[in-house]
Amino acid sequence: MSDSIDLEARYCAQNYHPLPVVLTRAEGAYVWDEAGKKYLDMMSAYSAVSHGHGHARLVKLVQEQVERLNIVSRAFYTDKLGPFLEKACTLTGQDMALPMNTGSEAVETAIKAARKWAYTVKGVAADKAEIIACTGNFHGRTIAIVAMSDEPQYQYGFGPFPPGFRLVEYGDIKSLEAAINENTAAFLVEPIQGEGGIIVPPPGYLKAAEELCRKHKVLLIADEIQTGLGRTGSLLACEHEDVHPDGLILGKALGGGILPVSMFLSRRDVMEVFTPGDHGSTFGGNPLAAAIGLEALNILVEDDLPARSARMGDRLINALREIDSPLVREVRGRGLFIGIETDPTMCSAREICEALMDRGLLCKETHATVVRLAPPLIIDETEIEWAVAQIRDVLSEIDTQRLAS
Ligand SMILES: *Cc1c(COP(=O)(O)O)cnc(C)c1O
Repeated sequence: MSDSIDLEARYCAQNYHPLPVVLTRAEGAYVWDEAGKKYLDMMSAYSAVSHGHGHARLVKLVQEQVERLNIVSRAFYTDKLGPFLEKACTLTGQDMALPMNTGSEAVETAIKAARKWAYTVKGVAADKAEIIACTGNFHGRTIAIVAMSDEPQYQYGFGPFPPGFRLVEYGDIKSLEAAINENTAAFLVEPIQGEGGIIVPPPGYLKAAEELCRKHKVLLIADEIQTGLGRTGSLLACEHEDVHPDGLILGKALGGGILPVSMFLSRRDVMEVFTPGDHGSTFGGNPLAAAIGLEALNILVEDDLPARSARMGDRLINALREIDSPLVREVRGRGLFIGIETDPTMCSAREICEALMDRGLLCKETHATVVRLAPPLIIDETEIEWAVAQIRDVLSEIDTQRLAS
């Protein structure tokens, strides 16, 4: 076994179960392992690498910015933060933004904003505010966030959890309607559930949720950390249904595949609940991150990566749906955000990912039954065709072995 794997086994907390491959470098849609073997990256760090690895414009900008100004904290203004937030707000149609680093921090920020808005604007009684989230959600790993999870493993051993969260059935508008009451501050939702297994809600769901929220003065907060910034074939997944959320959470691809960069964006009357000292982050909005974030957004727009994601995603999903394999129950998704649901009685998603790894294609299972495909948005037709051929061959190999045993 590789020394690197041994060292991680010895010194790193075992909170992940990585595929046994040790990566040493990357470029565009490809990564290379210690032995120099090349892999097509169909996972792109859970969508953090939508721009591709080491995008030339981003690398150049990082080199320049690193020599100029990196970390000063928000105790001072910098020349980078304003332009970055202006661009993010303009692109997404939001009024103001609060910069953070990881997705979880931006979700926590959204929860704080929604609660304080409920008390100071909506008039909810002290400590009664409720946030509604969905079954199968994934919003991160902090204590408050896992308090919203219905995945037993995310909670087991980590209690007690803060109160004030309520779950409704994802995709079921009646369930949301029944859960809303005078204490409801916000409905927090992923337009397509990522970690939950690439779950696409029924058409019209988000629009109906938006109408319900408006009617009951509840904030609609979209967690687009994974679905946003072109992943599903439009800049935001909310746009597919012409939905304009009151609050929006971005992360992952916002850092251009280089740094963790996240933010919570919202309407002015929501963001204005924050006053100096309420909430913050030492690294949030630092000039290096802001410079990268702004360039990541510029590239997204100038190269029209959302449209590319729509085009390539259609190709990929159509080709996958043509594969005739008893192992596959469903292929679903939107843009370059695709899940292959396998039949657990025949094979595990992990087994498929390992066989694909041997053939030079990296992807990762989510839960036991879904192979998630989310390549960098710069992937081209030839690479997609090659990937589909590998997936077809692996499925048929596993099927043959299964029949033989
Ligand atoms: C990844 C993810 C998060 C958490 O982001 P981290 O950067 O890992 O903290 C939250 N919400 C969604 C939808 C995500 O996909």
